[in-house]
Amino acid sequence: MSFNIQPFHIPKRLLMGPGPSPVHPSVLEKMSCAPIGHLDPFFLSLMEEIKTMLRAVFQTSNEFTFPISGTGSAGMEFCLVNLIEPQDRVLVGINGLFGRRIADLAIKLGAEVKTLEVPWGQSIEVEQLKEAISKEKPKVVALVHAETSTGICNPMEELAPIVAESGALFILDTVTSLGGSPVFIDQWKVDATFSATQKCIGSPPGLSPVSFSPRALDVIAKRKTKIPSWYFDCSLLYGYWGHERLYHHTAPINNNYGLHQSLRLILEEGLQNRWQRHYQAHLMLKEGLSQLGLKFFTPEDRRLWQLNAITVPDEKTEAFLRKKLLDAYGIEIGPGLGPLKGKIWRIGLMAEGARKENIERLLEALKKILSR
Ligand SMILES: *Cc1c(COP(=O)(O)O)cnc(C)c1O
Repeated sequence: MSFNIQPFHIPKRLLMGPGPSPVHPSVLEKMSCAPIGHLDPFFLSLMEEIKTMLRAVFQTSNEFTFPISGTGSAGMEFCLVNLIEPQDRVLVGINGLFGRRIADLAIKLGAEVKTLEVPWGQSIEVEQLKEAISKEKPKVVALVHAETSTGICNPMEELAPIVAESGALFILDTVTSLGGSPVFIDQWKVDATFSATQKCIGSPPGLSPVSFSPRALDVIAKRKTKIPSWYFDCSLLYGYWGHERLYHHTAPINNNYGLHQSLRLILEEGLQNRWQRHYQAHLMLKEGLSQLGLKFFTPEDRRLWQLNAITVPDEKTEAFLRKKLLDAYGIEIGPGLGPLKGKIWRIGLMAEGARKENIERLLEALKKILSR
């Protein structure tokens, strides 16, 4: 048998959707280095540097901070599987797809799940959370910081103290916020958080940075039931990522090379400067979109900078226009999901995407497409 299969050539794309985001050439360069052993002393020193840099980016002193092998959803599963036991009462804030995913996962783990649901496109607010917590008295509260499915930023500066006051364990999804807008894991008293490399961190998909507080580790140590996972068992994983260096699974070596370089870039730029760059990119996009007559779907005071949800110009032609943007201009933007399918476009300005030249290219292309 012979197969006439040619080597592939990846089309040139500008990624301005909900992730993955464009990756800096130096990150790709590091990822194309030859893999070394996952217990090689050189790799172990890279792991230490990754942990140190992740603590800086999460703004935490949590010793237990490292990347899970897998995408953001793996990090989500990691947090829930370790912290939640059957019958635990878990309150999940839902205002989009990812809050829903957390609730679905907690149900699978046998938790008694209570939800605080607000319509897609709205934020979860202090009074709502206060009321839900005092009604449900949850052991765990899980919230999504940046709801990528709707472009909403839930106001963590205000919500986090409410969770802290209640004494509940606090799980926070920082997948799209980390690296793009302010995240303060210690200040917000977050007990468990998970992120992902392909949004505002600026690496390809494949790793999910996580962090557990000492309190979270204490709760896990006192579990009555076994952790219902082998791959995500935090004590087994920490046997490798901690100082014992025991084989658990083979770390995705090259993804870790990439993460190391993208974390270096973040810290070199400075967190404040990076947030500011994402904010400025958002303002520039907003100005350009208003000149094109396009309107935001989200309320101004709760808008994400890195994920801009726009009401489509016309529901009947939106898929055609998006395809045109990809085919003729090589630019990817995201469609709406669930109840927002066909109703919004999601324009991501994440990591390397959040640059003036990319926004100009997108606006120029949109202008041409819309004028026809
Ligand atoms: C993308 C995303 C996830 C899931 O991450 P994957 O890498 O797709 O598994 C979870 N939460 C939020 C807020 C996200 O944007």
